[in-house]
Amino acid sequence: MNKIINEFKFDCQKTAHCCENMEIFLNPFDILKISKKLDNTTTQIIDKYIIFLENTENGLYRPIIKSARRGLCIFNIDKLCSIHNSRPLSCRLFPLARINKEYILQDVDFCKGLKENIANRLLDYIKEDSGIDYLSMADLFHEKYEKLKNLNTGLLNDKYYNNLLNVLLYDFDYFYNGELNYLNCKDKAKLSFYLVENLIEIYDSSKVYDKEVIIEKLFLEGDKFLDKNFS
Ligand code: SF4
Repeated sequence: MNKIINEFKFDCQKTAHCCENMEIFLNPFDILKISKKLDNTTTQIIDKYIIFLENTENGLYRPIIKSARRGLCIFNIDKLCSIHNSRPLSCRLFPLARINKEYILQDVDFCKGLKENIANRLLDYIKEDSGIDYLSMADLFHEKYEKLKNLNTGLLNDKYYNNLLNVLLYDFDYFYNGELNYLNCKDKAKLSFYLVENLIEIYDSSKVYDKEVIIEKLFLEGDKFLDKNFS
């Protein structure tokens, strides 16, 4: 992998090789954008297109897109991305990857576009198709994810709460039963991060882990967030 500064050479040749045999990790905003694009709930999107991988080191789950035949991404049809305008951040950035807010040119021999001599300005490339929203939401998610990785509580070892955490992060429509469809994807993601923050606090301060009480507290916190930001 090579660190890049301002410019890199690349011109997509539309071979779709970057959609084959790749693990495309999704963040909550990616899932919300795909659900909006396909007019499906987040629950339907998860059922049809996503699998969860467990990180055995920390007990956290990360969603990736399912593959269809020969390892091709399930969204790729006739070498074209069927969700192009709403494709996830990692696809938007390819052939770049973003690690700790630095951009890296991936070492991907299969990519014919890298052999082309078209210069791309880094800033223009990442701004393409409102990439800026994708980046800011990915940064917010990264912040939460780092916090979760370093949790000292038993929350991640507790099956019920670990599952609840996944619902809050990735399946917004299940938690709210589709009642907050008036919010845009960014606001839904922000509310979901806010609820995750609250789940950690509520869990840490609880002496008795009564599931109904904790869920009720989360809904109350959600109402406060909505009052503060949308009334
Ligand atoms: S989401 Fe689209 S761009 Fe990303 S791997 Fe799948 S088909 Fe390719």
